[in-house]
Amino acid sequence: MTDAHLDELKAELQAISDLNGAAMVLEWDQSTYMPAAGADARGRQIALLGELAHGRLTSPRMGELLKAVARLEDDDTVDGAMVRRARRQWERASRVPAALVSDIKNHTARSYVAWTQAKPKGDFAAVRPYLEKTVELSRRWSDCFPSAEHVLDPLVDANDPGMTTASVRALFDELRAALVPIVQAIAERPAPDRSFLEVGFPQAEQLAFGAEVAAELGYDFGRGRQDLTVHPFMIRFGAGDIRITTRVDEHDLTDALFGTIHEAGHAMYEQGIAPSFDGTPLGEGASAGVHESQSRLWENLVGRSRPFWERFYPRLQARFPQQLGEVDLDTFFRGVNRVERSLIRTEADEVTYNLHVMLRFDLEAQLLEGSLKVADLPEAWDARMASDLGVRPKSPTEGCMQDVHWYCMTIGGTFQGYALGNVIAAQVFAAARASLGDLDERIAAGDFGALRGWLTEHLYQHGARYLPDELVKRATGKPVGIEDFVAHLKAKYGALYGIAW
Ligand code: ZN
Repeated sequence: MTDAHLDELKAELQAISDLNGAAMVLEWDQSTYMPAAGADARGRQIALLGELAHGRLTSPRMGELLKAVARLEDDDTVDGAMVRRARRQWERASRVPAALVSDIKNHTARSYVAWTQAKPKGDFAAVRPYLEKTVELSRRWSDCFPSAEHVLDPLVDANDPGMTTASVRALFDELRAALVPIVQAIAERPAPDRSFLEVGFPQAEQLAFGAEVAAELGYDFGRGRQDLTVHPFMIRFGAGDIRITTRVDEHDLTDALFGTIHEAGHAMYEQGIAPSFDGTPLGEGASAGVHESQSRLWENLVGRSRPFWERFYPRLQARFPQQLGEVDLDTFFRGVNRVERSLIRTEADEVTYNLHVMLRFDLEAQLLEGSLKVADLPEAWDARMASDLGVRPKSPTEGCMQDVHWYCMTIGGTFQGYALGNVIAAQVFAAARASLGDLDERIAAGDFGALRGWLTEHLYQHGARYLPDELVKRATGKPVGIEDFVAHLKAKYGALYGIAW
């Protein structure tokens, strides 16, 4: 009997996955080729598919099926992991009342519009009432999970399963203490030149080079493709169709180049998931943090490394002889690794980036706790920027209004993944290096197969089978920690900036 139940459950999960996949095709099109006038109809179509998927996931039959196969939940098998994850998704979807979900959707749609209008003017007063309501709705969403210790926990757990506010905080406190003096020491050194990266690079050539690099790293264009968009992303429709998108700035070579490597990293992770997991809840990345670790690993630890540019810089120079012909490898390498105490998160370098994230995580926790009033957010933001990064925004445009996140969805749960990603990336890369030995030589020789093979074996193929912490422990032999990340920064930037730590 149970096997019939398991088969029916798998068929239901496949149907839900297909409904979600169909919605993603529509979203992808919306962000790439759709004429703006199509927005209203497209919004309806995507919402309808979302409702159908939600309805199937929370149906009474799904509850019965999960009950019928509940005995598998303790099994250390693929089916056991699949049932555990399906039950988690069912439980999460069932707990939040449909009325609250639609309240949040309606409110955040209006909030987003208000933000797009107020942001250029830095008019915080205009978004303040929206943000106050968003805080309230986020609290109500969190209240649907009464066993949580902290109001932020259910939001964190939604994207980084198994992590809590306390566990993220413990890690971030350590990280901040390590990072602030590193950033200060670097800021006291002369900044390397990067003007040659901004001299003008035609779009077509940039795209061609990015695609060439992505393919050589191992992104399989036979099961994917690359298109232009405004805010780049990776998207999966199914195991055989995992796409990346790119944005090109003709006046900054690094935007498309590292953006493409970043999204290709996300996509290689997805392309490496065991094909048999497709259409089940295991056919996706383990968490936001683990996913980001793979984009960051390829973007920063490979793509911003010296061996990588030993391999690719002559080809980049050949493609842009007028712009880079006279710039030597050393100067280029320093330029793409310049550290800057800047105001904008999305433009931040490898060293300062996490400080931007931690500030957001702490402030959103305080907003949800009620220890910080929305009215006091701009000042709290600016004070923290001054203490952590030594710079102060002139307006909320470059302060607490710079990121869309707080203005287009519930507050909390999305930022920590970016910093966790950086930390996990360094830990995974260190483990791969220890196992493969001559990793730098391989990268300089253009052999990325060994690294990709190692990552596939230890991380990619498992999809969402394990909780993130267990996955990282299995891959690296230890729980998530900051040591490898800090060691990486000290080694790389100590050499670049002539600092003995
Ligand atoms: Zn990413």
